[in-house]
Amino acid sequence: LVIPDFASFMADITEVYESLLPERRGAVADYIPQLKRVPPDQFAISVCTVDGQRFSIGDAGVRFCVQSVCKPINYCLTLEEHGSDVVHEHVGREPSGRGFNELSVNGDGLPHNPMINSGAIMSCSLIRASLDIADRFDHVADTWRRLSGGGHVGFNNAVYLSERQTADRNFALGYFMREHGAFPGNTNLIETLEFYFQCCSVELDSDGLASVASTLANGGIVPLSNDRVFSTGSVQKCLSLMSSCGMYDYSGEFAFTIGLPAKSGVSGALMLVIPQVMGIAIWSPRLDPLGNSVRGIEFCRQLVQKYNFHMYDSL
Ligand code: GLU
Repeated sequence: LVIPDFASFMADITEVYESLLPERRGAVADYIPQLKRVPPDQFAISVCTVDGQRFSIGDAGVRFCVQSVCKPINYCLTLEEHGSDVVHEHVGREPSGRGFNELSVNGDGLPHNPMINSGAIMSCSLIRASLDIADRFDHVADTWRRLSGGGHVGFNNAVYLSERQTADRNFALGYFMREHGAFPGNTNLIETLEFYFQCCSVELDSDGLASVASTLANGGIVPLSNDRVFSTGSVQKCLSLMSSCGMYDYSGEFAFTIGLPAKSGVSGALMLVIPQVMGIAIWSPRLDPLGNSVRGIEFCRQLVQKYNFHMYDSL
């Protein structure tokens, strides 16, 4: 067992959970009504180890949208389909040092990395581009289903519709990248953007997301089903970019203080990967000014205080 004394680990997680319940700082994302309406004080933590031990506490059965947590999964799908050389003809791998939806490209006219909006839109252009849009979405949804170890994966149509209606910035990013010739030939821009909004609107609960995180921790094999979804090489690349770019403009600070690959989204979801040990999903909708879940970040901080999980704790 990777965590021999799982009972005391669960007790520690419970203690952190309880210490964070009174935390009410931060505000839910309000750029669309559907996110603004989510009860802000919900809080869930779910753990899944690479050998399949599981634990969850709080609102672990409540589903939320993955939002930007779709970015690492879609990036892995592009790597599986095209290999890294082809993918990185269309997207860079440096932190942007700017906002997640900043209207900018790198010196080669490409989005800076796949973890920000422009790069995630680019990933969408690369996923099963020759299929029709329904089959492309099925491919993504099936992948989430497999990664979640058979958990329920849904789609929030209201979120999708209002994302699409209020997406001026994402449309602007799309046109800006097209102006720079960044997309593969034959890309249908509108369809690509709609596909991106659909991917953001995938829903699952924290138990499901912990399984997804544990699959990344396990090099691409779902611990709960032994299903290999991604190659180890794809996961390695994805975790590298999550480490440098996964937490918006807090990514450098997060790498410094927490020292683990993670990805957050505006729904308050946070997927934390402890390579070869476990995946943890934290969901709590109140966000700090940089767009990360307040309780999510605080949980990570306390976790690495209690346990030697920081990447360089082994030195
Ligand atoms: N749907 C959001 C957008 O593209 C995702 C943002 C996020 O979670 O960072 O604006």
